[in-house]
Amino acid sequence: LAGAGVSFSLLGIQTARRNLSGLEFASGIPATVGGAVFMNAGANGRETCEALHEVSYVHADGRIQTFSRPELQFSYRHSPFQKMSGVIVSVLFRLVSQEGARLKQLQIVEHRMQTQPLREKSAGCIFRNPEGGMSAGALIDRCGLKGVQIGGAKVSEIHANFIVNVGGASSRDVEELISLIQSRVQERTGVFLRPEVRVIDGSL
Ligand SMILES: Cc1cc2nc3c(=O)[nH]c(=O)nc-3n(C[C@H](O)[C@H](O)[C@H](O)COP(=O)(O)OP(=O)(O)OC[C@H]3O[C@@H](n4cnc5c(N)ncnc54)[C@H](O)[C@@H]3O)c2cc1C
Repeated sequence: LAGAGVSFSLLGIQTARRNLSGLEFASGIPATVGGAVFMNAGANGRETCEALHEVSYVHADGRIQTFSRPELQFSYRHSPFQKMSGVIVSVLFRLVSQEGARLKQLQIVEHRMQTQPLREKSAGCIFRNPEGGMSAGALIDRCGLKGVQIGGAKVSEIHANFIVNVGGASSRDVEELISLIQSRVQERTGVFLRPEVRVIDGSL
């Protein structure tokens, strides 16, 4: 059982250290447990919902409810909580005891360190991977967009699905770069990339 404010990455590390398998992919994802469930965060072919057993939730009117896994419909980077206005309070995960969970988790972190710009400032992956076919990063790379920059926002040289802030990037720089990537990729490959990041209106 983890409180919603617990670091999802740390949870992945600490459970793997006890050779509990199911959340190895979480290590390295900068999110709280609540945020990871809200977005159904995933990596390395695994998603948060796969290890989830129960969610304790406080509705906007103060009602407390426990949702069991079959009551919740998840899909790629989507949870039913995105259409609700309360707060996830805690999450019960179902993990399995497995020799080698720690080794798997260490390999996942090592792979992330080598393939993602984790030492730079970013919002993580910008676009959802299209169904089937090439990943968003591979499509952007294929269109020669690595290193393309608008203001302080730049397509990462390490992983093309990351936009990094190389200094003073404004949200407008990032949005313009997102539009440029979308039009260039669609023009060259016919695929329209849908953002994974949620843009919050500045006037809120
Ligand atoms: C460098 C980097 C790498 C990343 N890598 C990955 C990755 O590999 N895979 C992946 O899937 N994602 C990845 N992400 C995205 C990240 O997992 C999500 O953005 C996640 O939702 C962030 O969680 P947070 O706790 O920081 O929430 P916030 O960013 O604060 O909030 C995200 C959303 O969740 C909601 N929320 C947060 N907590 C709760 C709660 N307790 N109850 C109800 N709603 C809540 C917020 O209202 C908001 O709408 C990455 C992000 C970064 C910056």
